[in-house]
Amino acid sequence: MQYISTRGGIAPISFKQAVMMGLATDGGLLLPVSIPEISAETLTRWRQLSYPELASAVLGFFIDDIPANDLRALVARSYSTFNHPEITPLVKQGDCYILELFHGPTLAFKDVALQFLGNVFEYLLKESGGKMNILGATSGDTGSAAIYGVRGKERINIFILHPHKRVSPIQELQMTTVTDANVFNLAVRGTFDDGQAIVKTIFNDLGFKEKHQLGAVNSINWARIVAQVVYYIYAALKVTESEGVDKVDFSVPTGNFGDIFAGFVARRMLPQQIRHLILATNENNLLTRFILNGDYSLGAVAQTSSPSMDIQVASNFERYLYYLNGEDADRTRRDMDRFAASGSLQFDELAQERVRADFASRSVNEAETIATIRDFYKLHGYVLDPHTAVGVKAGLAGREAGVPMICLATAHPAKFGAAVKSAIGHEPDLPESLAALAGKETRCEVIAAEVAAVQAFVEQHAL
Ligand SMILES: *Cc1c(COP(=O)(O)O)cnc(C)c1O
Repeated sequence: MQYISTRGGIAPISFKQAVMMGLATDGGLLLPVSIPEISAETLTRWRQLSYPELASAVLGFFIDDIPANDLRALVARSYSTFNHPEITPLVKQGDCYILELFHGPTLAFKDVALQFLGNVFEYLLKESGGKMNILGATSGDTGSAAIYGVRGKERINIFILHPHKRVSPIQELQMTTVTDANVFNLAVRGTFDDGQAIVKTIFNDLGFKEKHQLGAVNSINWARIVAQVVYYIYAALKVTESEGVDKVDFSVPTGNFGDIFAGFVARRMLPQQIRHLILATNENNLLTRFILNGDYSLGAVAQTSSPSMDIQVASNFERYLYYLNGEDADRTRRDMDRFAASGSLQFDELAQERVRADFASRSVNEAETIATIRDFYKLHGYVLDPHTAVGVKAGLAGREAGVPMICLATAHPAKFGAAVKSAIGHEPDLPESLAALAGKETRCEVIAAEVAAVQAFVEQHAL
């Protein structure tokens, strides 16, 4: 499989090159030249497979430059760190299925992709004899998943900036108790935005970037998307089989459009089995406005109880825009230039019709989120985290009789104990792995919110 840029500015490249490139060098995002539709015979075979077996088969369509045996080993290693035999189990609760994506080491769905990406990086660096210094800023969740993705790996160091004393105690412990020699936690005396701005500035220093082989792990990396395609297919096959139906719908709590874009790819592969994709947003509802009214324009970021979705510019949106534009890269580049200049894109009626054929959407406010956690607990005794609750609210509202609704559960509720407590009156039970963090040795460097300070630290500790 070859990869191209949404902006048309690069010659086709292989999967390995695409993983190492991350963001396309023309500023666009990388996509496979085609998305295969899976035959009925293949699907029949896939129904018998375990999660890792299915993952190897699905990934094999998109990755033809890693030998199948090696790919299987990478997948097996990536999911051996999960604490559930089914990796992403489904539980039926009343009128919907909950697809639990939080059984990885940091108890959030980003582990599904970042465990795989870390192993792929290590494999490719070993092959090339290269090295990588990963640099990123986190508001809490992505940082720990990225750290767990590469802890202890050869040829990779990781530097993660988080805002000092502004992440939850659990999030802080999840990061700082990782004491592997290749992991550097930097607590920046400032906000998340300060950390992100510092990282951006350092990445723009092309000499420094080249010298230290700086790498990123944000959700624009194609390897992350493709790893997420697997659980849509896994869930669609399981539920159509157990319910004896043809089709299922999905509801997806959305921030950067990465997870729902994986759903879009999965539906292209299984158009008969996956019907609607519901894109659920919190009060940061730019994407809902886009889907319902064709209005893609920036607003201010609101803080909610689902912080991993407190996002305005969805970094993966451009991938969908490319398909909406009929795979026209020139037009996509012009649209993105216009958006960069004006902060707004408007879509005509024809485009809107196509968007609404691809996605339904609903924005869920704070009161509804908390009420959903409370009501779901009362009805089923099952505790939703606030992100998952946003998706469940939108999913139950959009459900149709005869078509099972699968709601993606993106985080374990114990990671967001305060919000859960405000809904059900008590904190959720702490899973063993979180309870064990208290009292562990920690390692973290408190640092000024200055580019020079962070750059000097990286310079000193880079591979
Ligand atoms: C990152 C994240 C999301 C949003 O996923 P996107 O791929 O950015 O749309 C939802 N829930 C949780 C818990 C997350 O960490």
